[in-house]
Amino acid sequence: MLPCRQGILGAISIILVILIGNDHKAEGMKKKKQQLPVPQSCEGSTDNYVQYIPGTLNLILTAPHGGHLKPKYIPNRCEKRWKDCECMYRSCENPDLSISVHNDRKTQELTLSLAEELGKLTGGRPHVVINHLHRKKMDGNRGECIGSFHVPASLRAHRQYHSTIQKAKQSIRGAGLLIDIHGQAHPERLIELGYCISKAKLNARELYHEHTSIRSLFERKKDKVHTFSNLINGEASFGAFLEQMGYPAVPSNLHPSPEEAPYYPGGFTVQTHGSKSGGLIDAIQVECPAYLREDEKRAGFVHDLAVAIKSYLDAYYND
Ligand SMILES: [Zn+2]
Repeated sequence: MLPCRQGILGAISIILVILIGNDHKAEGMKKKKQQLPVPQSCEGSTDNYVQYIPGTLNLILTAPHGGHLKPKYIPNRCEKRWKDCECMYRSCENPDLSISVHNDRKTQELTLSLAEELGKLTGGRPHVVINHLHRKKMDGNRGECIGSFHVPASLRAHRQYHSTIQKAKQSIRGAGLLIDIHGQAHPERLIELGYCISKAKLNARELYHEHTSIRSLFERKKDKVHTFSNLINGEASFGAFLEQMGYPAVPSNLHPSPEEAPYYPGGFTVQTHGSKSGGLIDAIQVECPAYLREDEKRAGFVHDLAVAIKSYLDAYYND
């Protein structure tokens, strides 16, 4: 998979690429280029870290944080605030942002089993897009800068990941849904659902569909669900579908808002690929608690999650 050639030739080609600037469009590149660490090898390799399994359903499953590959020629992303970090060698837009390099354990495995289970339940196949790079090397749920630090191979993988999602979206006719699979270990053990609504807004019940990743769903199904809050933390919400299967979720009819608990509102993928800025593909970030991802619980959870997703699709996308 990684046909890397270590050595002088590789290093020379990297330096040439850097000097020519083919791969780097970032502002500030010229003044920062002397700080570039030289990766061990492999520019120009045919690296391919994104897996696409084309589907037949109007459903896309994405897994950005479950990758296992840590090729040495891609420098690690920084763990601390990046302005204090030695691998700050590109001009990024938000120097105060904290960087996470921790994977969401078992989410790649969970996503593949979920696709299989949905296949059994529906007779069709969801589209699946998987990032195989470890989060130390690339974060597909952040923008290009923070996600790749503009390291050429990492940036290529980031762009390939999102263009593959775009390709999957384009192959769906009419309305569709993207489920972005993640994992967290918050002590509340709730499934956290992200629609691009902040914790503060959920707590204050300030729920307006326009700036969310399921904007299109509400506009299409207003007559059926009546209010947008019904679709977020009422009986019509995806959280309610999960609660019905026995899985506490937030926001939902039973857990309408996070209150003081930690909560992930939805990252780059649902912000970019959901219907916030138009289109008919909605997106929900699904943050699965750690205990449901462990080997002994995962199969049962995957089955029930597949049932909930199918019910949601039948209610709003296939009627
Ligand atoms: Zn994640």
